[in-house]
Amino acid sequence: MRRWMCLILICLLLAGCTGQKSVRKELFLMDTVMDLQIWGKDAQTAVNRIDALLRQLDSRWSATNPDSALSKANAGAPAWTAEEQALLKRLEELSQRTDGAFNPCLYALIDAWGFYEDAQHVPTQQEIDAALSDGRMDLGGAIKGYAGQQAVELLEELNVDRAILNLGGNIQTYGSKPDGSAWQIGIQNPDGGGNIGVVSVEGTMSVVTSGDYQRYFEQDGKRYHHIFDPETGWPAASGLRSVTVLCRDGLTADVLSTALFVMGLEEGTALWRQSHDFEAVFLLESGEIWATDGVVLSGCDYEVIEREE
Ligand code: AMP
Ligand code: MG
Repeated sequence: MRRWMCLILICLLLAGCTGQKSVRKELFLMDTVMDLQIWGKDAQTAVNRIDALLRQLDSRWSATNPDSALSKANAGAPAWTAEEQALLKRLEELSQRTDGAFNPCLYALIDAWGFYEDAQHVPTQQEIDAALSDGRMDLGGAIKGYAGQQAVELLEELNVDRAILNLGGNIQTYGSKPDGSAWQIGIQNPDGGGNIGVVSVEGTMSVVTSGDYQRYFEQDGKRYHHIFDPETGWPAASGLRSVTVLCRDGLTADVLSTALFVMGLEEGTALWRQSHDFEAVFLLESGEIWATDGVVLSGCDYEVIEREE
């Protein structure tokens, strides 16, 4: 091979090693499709380790796998590790912060509505009332965000330039894009077909959407979705189609997206005004979009929610 051809080949190989190429993997875990894309020298190692992390979290926190730590605790035989206890403590604090709108103890209610067995139906009021006084846990509203946060800790340990992880609609970004521009994350149109708008985020961020279109069933011509108001035991009816939360902390983002969906625009805005760690985009049933003033949103008309009333 001529020398100049050798040089070009070496340059091409080096370009491939400088982190411009990514490693990508799709998985089906936690009852949802996940997509990992990671750039950098250790990208393959990072993908493998995050894959293992997600499988481990799924096997620990699944509400339907009888061998999970969560199921054992729900069956009355808890054997938590220190790390698991720390997560439960954080969830309790976050639940209090949302005034109980996020409630990690809705296992019996979700079961009564048939969501675990894919046998969804409207339960009787008596069944709902009984389920509300049952303390068994379900962390479906928080565990993907926790997974994103744990994945970020792994990425920080490794030689990784940047990553974007789609954990079943929970988007976790890490680092900045090769050209230094912001990550662009679409907010899904609940009626299908594309986005209602696009949020721009810089660096490491968790962007989590809770919506009435993600899991639902129809009975007698009425739609019932999977996010419950813990006060009534019925699907939350707060006038929203979806809420997207942007927060550096994945667990907080996931808890708040579920809680704000239950709380609605007014109460959600009040919580945001008391807080300084998240931003939110509310999509109303009317089609209106409201976004807190720290959100960079494009591709739609929207009202800005200011800090001061
Ligand atoms: P998300 O998509 O993060 O809003 O989570 C929805 C999931 O969280 C549901 O499928 C249930 O497993 C669980 N869930 C439903 N309602 C609540 C609630 N009010 N608080 C906590 N978890 C909930
Ligand atoms: Mg959530």
